Formats: sequence, structure tokens, C-alpha cells
Amino acid sequence: MNVTTLPKPPRVGLVSLGCPKALVDSERIMTKLRADGYDMSPDYAGADVVLVNTCGFLDSAKEESLEAIGEAIAENGRVVVTGCMGKEADVIRNRFPQVLAVTGPQQYEEVVAAVHEAAPPVPSPFIDLVPTEHLGPGLKLTPRHYSYVKISEGCNHRCAFCIIPHLRGDLVSRRPDAILREAEKLVAAGTRELLVISQDTSAYGVDLRHKSFPLKSGGEVRAHMTDLARELGKLGQPENNVWVRLHYVYPYPHVDNVIPLMAEGLVLPYLDIPFQHASPDVLRRMRRPANDAKVLQRIRSWREMVPELAIRSTFVVGFPGETEEDVAYLLGWLEEAQLDRVGAFKFEPVEGAPATSMADQVPEDVKQERYEAVMALSARISAEKLAAKVGSTLDVLIDAVDAETGGATGRSKADAPEIDGEVQLRDAGGLKPGDIVAAKIEDSDEHDLYGVPA
Ligand code: SF4
Repeated sequence: MNVTTLPKPPRVGLVSLGCPKALVDSERIMTKLRADGYDMSPDYAGADVVLVNTCGFLDSAKEESLEAIGEAIAENGRVVVTGCMGKEADVIRNRFPQVLAVTGPQQYEEVVAAVHEAAPPVPSPFIDLVPTEHLGPGLKLTPRHYSYVKISEGCNHRCAFCIIPHLRGDLVSRRPDAILREAEKLVAAGTRELLVISQDTSAYGVDLRHKSFPLKSGGEVRAHMTDLARELGKLGQPENNVWVRLHYVYPYPHVDNVIPLMAEGLVLPYLDIPFQHASPDVLRRMRRPANDAKVLQRIRSWREMVPELAIRSTFVVGFPGETEEDVAYLLGWLEEAQLDRVGAFKFEPVEGAPATSMADQVPEDVKQERYEAVMALSARISAEKLAAKVGSTLDVLIDAVDAETGGATGRSKADAPEIDGEVQLRDAGGLKPGDIVAAKIEDSDEHDLYGVPA
């Protein structure tokens, strides 16, 4: 049996100088880097690259910043400089020509890009929360009009095929006020869509005992998925209503409470629920959370409340001990659940995961057959669901425009970037990425929709 050994993620050391605002910037940069698969290094020696967030407010602060850069170069050698002193790139480069990159304050994308360049992340389907297109070589950073917002790190579950808790530890939620502050900045900088990510979004705030935190604008917010989602949904209102998309939600009973937020238009009618399987026996052996036999019933009731709800999910076939009956159960379940988007994976043993040493490993050719069966059924369901949208008018967030053809590519509320389908628009001249337009849907295929601005 081939066992996959995961490469170690690159480690970033951080020296953060200056005012609380600079600290927020550091926090924001590190959140993005953590979301991209980086680890933090508590010391110079263990870091693949050191990020120095400088302060340039007073001469004394500038000198302190230069000293910090000098120390980082002496101790580590691979240094990226950002922050207020980044405005004086010449001063820094004259004194430290070996600095890898200098970026200014609030240039988050540039500083993250510089770190990616200095220590490229190692894409891994076993641990990445964001699509690997964002991580691999030939780096593609999130465009400004959509942004991933990581709300917690780690996980309290112990799924048998997963090594995240081993790598990242138990769930640690970020403070909701810090998340909102970050999201506010993103929206002010042009983000139209916030993609909420974590290992288990529905468990958000459990470690903080769901306590409330004061907001700068007055009032308070509870560290709870529903409350956080509601506050995120209010950002940019009324003129720049931001799209809030929830990823990695487990179907715990309290998830029912976010459905009304979708009905109110505060959160997109979209749920990314990694079911991984449907057979109760396989789920039990996988040690999956919220493994409730009544899930189909719940999906039905959610759809009664929000008929346009799109559900995306992933499934693993070929888990050790999976029988033909389990697969038949899964296919029947999928037929009934009518999920909008399905990704399937063949079970792959990963070093350190309990399932790797389980008995009754499934042969590769059998995994392949089962994988193809799930993919074929999901493609048929997806094609049928998309065909039913032909003739309707949908809001489309524009991702890219093609000046030559006059066409544009975007996504409806049912499509997350990179992982779901697209809406291809013709005669879309004058649009730009980040615009949200109403589009009349004219055609469809297995994955995508085709239309024209209405
Ligand atoms: S819920 Fe399971 S699969 Fe997801 S991160 Fe936690 S242990 Fe891993």
C-alpha cells in the first residue's frame, strides 16, 4: 500500500513593530498566510523567511525598524519588509541590499506574494482550505473582489482519515471583532465576496464559550457562527451588499439558524458541507461529526425555507472496509439529496492518519470504479439542475472580462470561485471584475451556465 507523506509547510517568522494598526495589519497578513498553508515560526532559526512589519512614524521608530531588519538579516538572511517604512524602500535597500522584497503599508497582496515567492507554499489536498490554484507555483492570489476569511484554526474532531488536528491542534477561534475588522477592511478595499473558511465553521466560537465581544461601532457580537455570519452580511449595506459564502459547515442542528439569514439576503443561499459519505456504517468508522441519519430530512426543510439554496459537498470513496452496499447506499442518497455540486475523491492513506492502518483497504481499481460511479451520477444531477436555470435571471459577480470577444466570466450565488461552475456572459462590454449584474441564462452544460446581461 502506498502511503502519502505530507511535505512540511514553510514557516514564517514575524517581527511586528509599531502601533496597534500595524499589529492588525500583521494579524491580517498572518491570517492570509496561515490560510495559504504556512506555519508560524517562533524564532529566526526555524523560519524559511522572516517578515518585518516596520514603523516609520518617528525617526526613532525608523531606526528601530532598521535595526530589526538588520537583526533579521543577521539571524536568518531571508527577509521581507513591509509596513510604514516600506514607503522608504530606497533607505532600506541602500542599507540592506539583500532584503528580498519591500512593500508598503496595507499592501497585503504584495507582501503575501513576496512571501509566496521567497518560500513557496506546498499545495496539499489533505490540508488546504483554499483551492490549490491559489497556492501552487505560478501563484494566483485572490483577486481583490473576493477574499477568504479564516475564522478559526485547528479542529476538535478526529476523523480517521485526517491529520489536521495532529498538525494544527484543537480548534482555536479568532475573536469575532477581529474577524469583522478584517472583513471591513477587505470590503473597503473592494471585496464584494467574503469566503468564510475554517476546518469546521459550524464549531466556530466553541472554544471561546460563545462569549460576546464589544464592537467599535457599538453593540457586541457573540463568537458564534450565526451571529458572525449576520454581522458579516451587514457589511457594505445598503449600496455595496457583500456576498458572504460559508464553507466547511457540518450539519449540526444549530446550522438551521443560518438558513433564515439566507432568506433575509444576509448570507448567500449556499452551503459547503463536506459530507464525505452517506452510509452510516462508513461514517461511523470515519468518525465523522454531525453524522445524523436525518440529514436528508434537514436538507428538505432547508430547501423549503430557501428554495434556491445550493449545496456543495465532497465525498470519499474506497474508505477501508467500504462495501458494495455502502456504495449503493451512497448513490441512492445522492440521488435523493440532489446536491448542486459534488467533488469525489478516492481514499488515499496519509501517514499518521488512523485509517491508514485500518484493515480491509480497498484495491485501487475498485476505488476507481466507485469514483467514476459517483462522478457520473453527480454530473447528471448537476446538468439537470443547471438546465432548470435556463430562462431565469440570476445575479452574476464578474471575475474576468475578455476585451477581445466582449464576453465576461462570472459566478452566480451558487458558485464558489475555483471549485464550482461559472457563468459565461456574451455581449458584456463595459463590465469589470467585481461588478454584480443581472444576467438572463440562455444555456447550460454539466458545470457551467451561459447567458447575457439582462
Ligand atoms: S472535521 Fe475531521 S476532516 Fe475536518 S479537519 Fe476536523 S478531523 Fe479533519
